[in-house]
Parts: sequence; C-alpha cells; structure tokens
Amino acid sequence: MSLSQVPTISLIRGDGIGPEITASVLHMLDAAGAKLAYEEVPAGENALPMHHDPLPDVTLQSIAKNKVALKGPLSTPKGTGFRSVNVALRQHFDLYANVRPALSFPGVPSRYQNLDIVTVRENTEDIYAGIEHYVGPGRSAAESIAVITRFGSERIVRYAFEYARRHGRKKISIIHKANILKMSNGLFLDVAKQVAAEYSDIQHEDIIVDAACMKLVLFPERFDVIVTMNLFGDILSDLIAGLVGGLGVSPGANLGEKAAIFEAVHGSAPDIAGQGIANPTALALAAEMMLRHLSQTEAADRLHKGLLAGLLDARLRTKDLGGQANTQTFTEGVCSAIAQQK
Ligand code: NAD
Repeated sequence: MSLSQVPTISLIRGDGIGPEITASVLHMLDAAGAKLAYEEVPAGENALPMHHDPLPDVTLQSIAKNKVALKGPLSTPKGTGFRSVNVALRQHFDLYANVRPALSFPGVPSRYQNLDIVTVRENTEDIYAGIEHYVGPGRSAAESIAVITRFGSERIVRYAFEYARRHGRKKISIIHKANILKMSNGLFLDVAKQVAAEYSDIQHEDIIVDAACMKLVLFPERFDVIVTMNLFGDILSDLIAGLVGGLGVSPGANLGEKAAIFEAVHGSAPDIAGQGIANPTALALAAEMMLRHLSQTEAADRLHKGLLAGLLDARLRTKDLGGQANTQTFTEGVCSAIAQQK
C-alpha cells in the first residue's frame, strides 16, 4: 500500500474512559500493522469548553470527508439541553444499519460458549422516530408513534442478507411482532419476506419477538444473523451481549451510504475514568470491524488473534472480566501476542 492509499479516518477519543481505551487500541492497531492515518476531532463533553457544542461542525465535516470514524464513548452532557451526540451522528449521516456482533471468547466469563450471533438493527425508524405527545389534560396520557416504511425496511433487510452473503453466514432470523402490530410490523415482515425470496442461498425464518427472547436464552446456538426493527434490535442486542460476557466485549458499527462509525457499545464509564483499569476490548473489536470494512483483512485477523490470546490469559484480564490486570498490562499482552504472529 503506497502512502497515498493509506486511508484517513476520523478519530474521536471520547469522554470518561474514552481517551484511555483509544490510546490502547491505537497501540494494538499499530502492532497489527494497520495502515491508517488519523484525523483527530472533538466530540462529547470534552468538546464543550472550546467549541460550546458536543458535536462541532469540524467533526461532522471530517467524518463526511473521511467516511470512516473510530469513536470512543461520549457522555451526553446532563441538564444542558444538548441531545445525545450518538443519536445526532446517526441522524446526520443517516446511519441506518447498526451491526452488533456477539462472539464468545474463551476465558471470558459468560453464560454460554461458542456463540457467534450478529444483530442487524434498523437505526432510524420505529418508535425511536421521536414522534411523541401528551393527550388530554394534565398529562393524563401519552402517545408514541412507531414509523415503519417500506423503504427503511427493505434497505435494512437487504443489508442483512448482503452481510450474510459477504460473511458466509447461513441463516437470517427476521424478528417482529406482526401478530399484534399488524400494520407497522406487518409491513416490515412482508417486505422482509419479499427481500428474502431473492436470496435462495441463505435460509431465513421469522420469529415473534417474545418467542425469540425465550429461544435466545434457551438455545442461542440456533441463531446466526438477526435482522429486526429499531426497538427490538436495541433490546435484543443487549440481551445477546449478555449471553457472551457483556458490554466489555461488545463492539458496534453504525453504517450508511455516507459514513461508517465504529464504536464500543458501552458508555464512558465515568465511575472508573482516569484509573487506568478500563477494558479496551470492545473498542478494539470495533477497530477490527473497521479494518475489515477498509479491506485490511490481514491486520484485522492479527488484531483478532491478539485479542483472543489476551483474553485467554487470566493474568492479562481486566477487573470487569474477573481479572486483576490494568489497561496497560492487557494492551502490552495483546500487542506482544500480535508480534508473535508475524
Ligand atoms: P457505561 O457503559 O458507561 O457503564 C456501565 C458500567 O459498566 C459501569 O460500571 C462501568 O464502569 C462499566 N464499564 C463500561 N465500560 C467498561 C470498560 N470498557 N471497562 C470496564 N468497565 C466498563 O454506562 P453508563 O454509566 O450508563 O453511562 C455513562 C455515560 O456514557 C453516560 O453519559 C451515557 O450517556 C454515555 N453512553 C455513551 C455511549 C456511547 O458513546 N456509545 C453508550 C452508552 C452510554
């Protein structure tokens, strides 16, 4: 790769533990031989003193130009009237697909082993469309409106099937509540079935969300890729993260035509910020997804194997995973495991 081909990505270090885990992940990326140039931009609480805005224009322009961002967790300033930066980024760049892989790692304490489930969640519609109002006097009732469109349903389901094809996945579970929400969820299900019919190489099934929850807890190994609407996707992806060891090992990507933003699913963990004990694994797994998005497969594989080795070694595991190691010890262990592969 010549210098001119090295992609520039926007880098947001984030708030709370964000700078600590970002520094760790940059070491790992370097060790893995990732070819990246970084354009560092501000966002979140730490952007306020200088920019008076948790999502400054300079950050939006950088992501629009580079089309790829790695983002540390951001605190949403409380009581200031600022909306969530994460939601604002999703809306600004129309990041309609939220992809959340949940993979078992040997050594990570969890309910199950050998799980590999990817949730593809629609990120822009449904009950999260933000259409809510009170009805009647004195807040006696409230209504929230779920918006499901044919366009939004088709593009997320098509994304899921294309993802399955690209990643050699065998089965897609379409999750819905069309038996009760006959129009909104019924539309999603109809469109999903139409799209599924175009992909004869990939099996599909549809499951009502309540039954899906039970099956996920009882027989999670029967799931491969899940595609669903915004609210169910939000809830199910956390449930599935819980099956493989929790938020410390859960990455996510927010994807659209205009940009791709890779992040850890967890927040800025202000309770442990600055102590050097945060687990960088989730952000590192997000960085691995980013490398695959950028077709830097070999570096992604090296990073993945390094993380596997780090998580397997009880001396390297951080406190949230039952170990005693700090961020630096884990980072050094992963980097040396990567170096041994070369
Ligand atoms: P959180 O995920 O930050 O923390 C929940 C618990 O998990 C805490 O006890 C924390 O110490 C622990 N934890 C989280 N990540 C960890 C890590 N990498 N290593 C070790 N322990 C870890 O959730 P919260 O406390 O509800 O939210 C804190 C802030 O983060 C809020 O301002 C919230 O709005 C924001 N948030 C941001 C994102 C994001 O940027 N994507 C996501 C969720 C929450």
